[in-house]
Amino acid sequence: MGKLSGKAALVTGSSRGIGRATAIRLAREGALVAVHCSKHREAADETVATIEKEGGRAFAVQAELGVAGDVHALFLGLEQGLKERTGSTTLDILVNNAGVMGGVAPEDLTPAAFDRLIAVNAKAPYFIVQRALSLIPDGGRIINISSGLTRVANPQEIAYAMTKGAVDQLTLHFAKHLGPRRITVNSVGPGITDNGSAIFDNPEAVEQMSSYSVFGRVGEASDVGDVVAFLAGPDGRWITGSYLDASGGTLLG
Ligand code: NDP
Repeated sequence: MGKLSGKAALVTGSSRGIGRATAIRLAREGALVAVHCSKHREAADETVATIEKEGGRAFAVQAELGVAGDVHALFLGLEQGLKERTGSTTLDILVNNAGVMGGVAPEDLTPAAFDRLIAVNAKAPYFIVQRALSLIPDGGRIINISSGLTRVANPQEIAYAMTKGAVDQLTLHFAKHLGPRRITVNSVGPGITDNGSAIFDNPEAVEQMSSYSVFGRVGEASDVGDVVAFLAGPDGRWITGSYLDASGGTLLG
C-alpha cells in the first residue's frame, strides 16, 4: 500500500511540467488525483492515461484560472469527479501549482499583463485554498509552488516574483490559521526545471541554465514532484509554514 492510499489530491496545472510529475508521483503513492488544466485538455488526458497505465487513479478537470468564476468552475468539476469515484467530496491534498511567467523587461510590462500574473499566480491560489477548506479534513495538506526567484533577483521577472512572494505569504499565514486542524501548509520553490518547453531542447541554453545549480544540471519535473510528495505524505506532518528550496542548490550562489 502506498503512503497516500485512500487520499484524494488536486494538482492544479498538472497537464504538463512540474504539475504532471507531481500528479504521477502522488498517484504512485496511491492517491486519487484530480489532474487540472486550462486549455490543453488532451495533455491532461495524457497525464490521466499515464497514471492509469501504472495502475493508479486519476481524472481530468478543466478550468481556466485568473478569470471570473474560475474557482467555482474548478470546484464543480473537482467535486463531481471526487463524488463519482469516492462517494464524497473529501480532498486530502491540495497542490497549487498552475502558474504563468512574465519574461518581459520591467520597462515593458503592461498593467494588463501585471494583472494577469497576479490573477493566475496569487489570487487564484488564495481563493482555491479558501474554497477547499470545507473539503479538506483535519490533517490535510496544502502545498503551494513558489519559485527560487523569491530569493534571487531576475529583472525580467519582477512581477512574476512578486506573485510568488504573495504565494509564500499565503503559505505562512494559512499555516498558522490551519494549525489547530493539523493541516500543514508549505511552499516548494523550484529553480530552473525542465518542463518540456522548447528552450530545454537547446543544448547551449541548457548548459547555461545548468550552471546555476550546484549539481550542474537543470531540475527534472520529478525532482520537484518528489519533494511535494514528501510534504503530502505522513512524513511531512511536522513541517508547516515553510519554504522548501527545491532548486538543486541554486540559492547557494
Ligand atoms: P508549465 O508552463 O509547464 O505548465 C503550466 C501548467 O499550468 C499547465 O498545466 C497549464 O495548463 C496550467 N496553467 C497555466 N495557466 C493557467 C491558467 N490561467 N489557468 C489554469 N491553468 C493554467 O509550468 P511549469 O511546470 O514550468 O511550472 C509549474 C509551477 O512551477 C508554476 O507555478 C511555476 O511558476 C513554478 N516554477 C517553475 C519553474 C520552472 O523552471 N519550470 C521554476 C520555478 C517555479 P494547460 O496545459 O492547459 O495550459
